[in-house]
Amino acid sequence: MTQPPSRQPSRGRGQPTVFDEPMRAAYLELVRHGMHLGDAATQLGINRVTPRRQTRIDREFAAALKEARVVGQKVRQEGVPHDEYRYNILKCRCLRCTRAAAAGRANRRATEDPPPGEDGGQVHPIRAVVAESVPSFLLARAS
Ligand SMILES: [Zn+2]
Repeated sequence: MTQPPSRQPSRGRGQPTVFDEPMRAAYLELVRHGMHLGDAATQLGINRVTPRRQTRIDREFAAALKEARVVGQKVRQEGVPHDEYRYNILKCRCLRCTRAAAAGRANRRATEDPPPGEDGGQVHPIRAVVAESVPSFLLARAS
C-alpha cells in the first residue's frame, strides 16, 4: 500500500504553521465575514503576522485580502443579514445562510420555468450596491 504524500497540518504549540492554500482561503473567508485580521488569524491558530507576510510575497493573496477586507468592512457596517445573498456573494456557510440558499435553490427548482424578462421583485437592491461599490472603493483607496 502506498500512501499519498499528504501534508500533515502540524499544529503544535509554538510551531510555525504553514499558511497553505486551504488556510489562506479560510482566512479570507473569515475576513470577508467581517472578522478583524488579528482575530481571523487567532481563529485559525496562526500567527497574526503570517498573513501579512504572505501579502508581500503573494500578490494574488494580497489582492484577495484587500477585497475581502472591503467586503468585511461592509458586513460590519451594514450588518448584511444572513441569507442567500450572503451565502452566494459573501460565501457565508453558516447554518442560516446555507438553509436560505438551499431553500432558494429548491424554490427555483420547484418553479422550473425561469421568467423570461424581469424576475419579480426578488432581487435584493444591496446586491447591486455591493457589486458596484467594491471596485470604486478600491480605486479610491489606491490613490
Ligand atoms: Zn451566514
